Amino acid sequence: MHVGEEYSIIPAFIINMAGCNLTCPTCPERERWNHLLRPLPAEAYARALISHFDKTSWPKSIEWIGGEPSTQMPYVFDTTWAMRALHPELPTVYLNTNAYFSPFLNPMLAGTGAIDAFVFDLKASPPCARHITGASDYFDAVSHNILELARLMPRAPHILRHLVMPGHVECCTVPILEWCKKNVPDLCFNLMTTFHDFRRPPSIPAVLPQNEADLAIHFAKSSELPHLLINGDPA
Ligand code: SF4
Repeated sequence: MHVGEEYSIIPAFIINMAGCNLTCPTCPERERWNHLLRPLPAEAYARALISHFDKTSWPKSIEWIGGEPSTQMPYVFDTTWAMRALHPELPTVYLNTNAYFSPFLNPMLAGTGAIDAFVFDLKASPPCARHITGASDYFDAVSHNILELARLMPRAPHILRHLVMPGHVECCTVPILEWCKKNVPDLCFNLMTTFHDFRRPPSIPAVLPQNEADLAIHFAKSSELPHLLINGDPA
């Protein structure tokens, strides 16, 4: 149960999965993937989750998180459908995704009744994408999928996160704010200044310098995005 997510979705029950299709050098997740448990079959896991919530407390949302959960959608679908069959009034189910996947997945993600909404991640502008994510086609692929899923599920409470990277305020944060204002202004935009480099030893600053955090917040507030959050709270 996680209370460090956006204020509108906490407490959020986080289901972490292993593996990712990107290779961000500063990935905070990879370390954890060697220590994961073997998953239960989907129906058994769904029953275990419902029973756990009944015995403890129900969250406001359930988040499938990676690594990258879109690489394991059959399990996500099967488990979520089984949870819905056992408990039709399920909290909002989010897919917390890097949105780097084939566009052929979009109709399935939006149309099968498993996923209610998305927590998207928009990390880098085109010139910096390869350096930050390992994928040179990152921005085109991800921006296309965000647009398409927002169009397919227009009333869903999607969230778009942008983690400000050290040295990338003007080249990444500013153009991403402009792209969001132009293309998906209705999405809740969460600007995060909580970057932490988990590599040892870090080759770039271990945390975002305060002056860069302040500058990014200034640009975000100036963007006049109507649903702006700063580190999960209303701006
Ligand atoms: S998208 Fe997230 S999980 Fe995947 S490599 Fe990048 S930081 Fe790690």
